[in-house]
Amino acid sequence: MNSATEIKESPDGLWHKCDGCDELVFRQALERNLYICPSCGYYLPVPAEQRLNQIFSTNSWIDLFPDSAPQSLLESLDLADLVSQTVCPDLPERVIAAGEGEISGCSTILTVIHPLAPPQRLHFVTLLIAIRTALMKALPLIAVYSNDAVSKMIAADEPTAPELSFAEITYLSTEMAKLSETRLPQITVLTDANARSLSTRFPIGDIILVEDSNSSTGVSERQPPITDARRKAESRSVSLNGEAFVDHYVPREALPETLGNLLGFFAKTRGT
Ligand SMILES: [Zn+2]
Repeated sequence: MNSATEIKESPDGLWHKCDGCDELVFRQALERNLYICPSCGYYLPVPAEQRLNQIFSTNSWIDLFPDSAPQSLLESLDLADLVSQTVCPDLPERVIAAGEGEISGCSTILTVIHPLAPPQRLHFVTLLIAIRTALMKALPLIAVYSNDAVSKMIAADEPTAPELSFAEITYLSTEMAKLSETRLPQITVLTDANARSLSTRFPIGDIILVEDSNSSTGVSERQPPITDARRKAESRSVSLNGEAFVDHYVPREALPETLGNLLGFFAKTRGT
């Protein structure tokens, strides 16, 4: 039935069941392998904080919320109650993480949404902080979202999961558009593309990457024709914000390098 809602982790957290082949994989081995199943190559969901560690070039990055959020901000925006919700109820993992760090020498803001957490007010607040910080510091913004087709299946099993309102999404989109006005790059990475259709309810950037285990390693220009055909088919179903096209399909292991190349490219064009 709905395999996504089955318990996929042992109570001691030592092993994890792969959705692709049902093999049990040791968590440590999975973490070392970027959450790619060593048996079948299936892309398992990567927890938000692990993503930040994977994508940022250095281990040190600034946690934008809640760790380094100023106390005055927490109080003035009444965010103290949200701090306790930053971790998934059933998992020791963050619902959403946002950090400032470096990718291939380029400073950037990176925010990652936990693939299995339904959208809630915490997402709105954290995304807003990420966007505002990018604006304030004139930095690029990279947002890593899970494909909605996957998270919707999970959300169906959640008893009370307050959704993001349309007004909140619109507000975030408007804020994000300010980055475009100042020519700051915004890159959206859509993950968990194992499902057929691609969609996200979160605001998307000017550039869309899709993490895809079937894409060729490293060089996205050399994709086989079949990928091109699929790309056309899939690009029609991406996003809630009207027309959007997938710019690149990238294998997980090549994501940091691809993002680094893009940031380097934008840094050059903005510098001239
Ligand atoms: Zn597997």
